[in-house]
Amino acid sequence: MRILLLGGTGEARELAHALAGERGLEIVSSLAGRISDPVRPGGTVRVGGFGGAEGLRNWLTDNAIELIVDATHPFAATMTAHAARASAQLGRPMVRLNRPGWTADPGDHWLRVPDLAAAARVSADTGDRILLTIGRQGVGAFAGYTRPWYLVRAIDPPEVALPPRHEILLARGPFTVEAESALLARHRIEVLVTKDSGGAATAAKLIAAREAGIPVVMVDRPPAPPGLVEVTSVRAARQWVTEYARRHPDSTSGVG
Ligand code: NAP
Repeated sequence: MRILLLGGTGEARELAHALAGERGLEIVSSLAGRISDPVRPGGTVRVGGFGGAEGLRNWLTDNAIELIVDATHPFAATMTAHAARASAQLGRPMVRLNRPGWTADPGDHWLRVPDLAAAARVSADTGDRILLTIGRQGVGAFAGYTRPWYLVRAIDPPEVALPPRHEILLARGPFTVEAESALLARHRIEVLVTKDSGGAATAAKLIAAREAGIPVVMVDRPPAPPGLVEVTSVRAARQWVTEYARRHPDSTSGVG
């Protein structure tokens, strides 16, 4: 059974690794090709967009994909929407691996906002020295704010309009709480802006912010397409896929 595994996350790499050992399954991992030096999953990997929902539909048919596993980032809403549409149109099953979001602990001061435009507004109202950890493309939402100073942390340099007062910090997680605390102190950060990505790899900044008494502007996740089958852990995704394959032995393409 050929499976498309939409990736770009640590969980997708873990899942590719876990499923590689399953007899009869052939996994094709897909990366968007956005960052210059991605950590590649093991096994077969393709890189680059499919050319919209229609391109994806054609690609799935041409490559005899029987099952779609969407393990993209919680904020990769376009890819998830395209995959859900292609899955419905072709009648191929799809499961979404979506790690749980973060929840505030006592001592946290979080301001939840629905999107980046609101994050830009609320953070500018909250402080003058702002750390942005929202990925490089989202920074464009802050471009019109001329008063605050922004520390923009991203893996690759942003290619969008930037606010006039900023510094770019190129870095890739995971980060330790100690390192995050030192960063907040060194730059005298007053507000942290982040997306509710969830997961352990980038959670240290939230602990550092709590310990320093710094407010966090937390961007909520985009809504999921209706009717999506979701699991929240690599283990559950692996179980779902192997169970599906077990129940549909006749649909295998003879690989493995
Ligand atoms: P997006 O807005 O949902 O997708 C935009 C377009 O990028 C899609 O329409 C598709 O192009 C292409 N694309 C996205 N993921 C792809 C994949 N796994 N394989 C092939 N094409 C893909 O996605 P995004 O938020 O820009 O994220 C891009 C990638 O970075 C994803 O793989 C995601 O898992 C990863 N990532 C995203 C974030 C984040 O905060 N958004 C954070 C960490 C990692 P076509 O329409 O041409 O098919």
